[in-house]
Amino acid sequence: MEEKQLKSVFFHFRFKFLAITAIFFLLWVILSGSAEFDQFTKTTQFKLLGPFFISSGIFYLLFRKIPFKCPNCYKFISTRKDWYCPSCEKKQGRERYLSDKCVHCKQMLATSFCDHCKEEFRL
Ligand SMILES: [Zn+2]
Ligand SMILES: [Zn+2]
Repeated sequence: MEEKQLKSVFFHFRFKFLAITAIFFLLWVILSGSAEFDQFTKTTQFKLLGPFFISSGIFYLLFRKIPFKCPNCYKFISTRKDWYCPSCEKKQGRERYLSDKCVHCKQMLATSFCDHCKEEFRL
């Protein structure tokens, strides 16, 4: 069985990276924090929680928007367009982010096509 090797733009990887960072941060806060809750709320770790989640939210919004380069022609591709879903073979009908699920079948997009060279790549 031979599968076509598609080049990846690591688009979904951005969000996985963010999720992993958040999990490790929470683990660090829990493991290094004080056992007593009233003590815990006075620690640096606790004070860092708010700014950390605010910046994670900002990063999430940025990661959705930041365009990536096509792995084949190296031109920039927008992350927001009326994309075609290969699972249900329908267009989205309006401009949506490539990180969003399909409006019809709720599937995540695994691959996409370049607007410039029309080559397929993994997200
Ligand atoms: Zn679909
Ligand atoms: Zn291209």
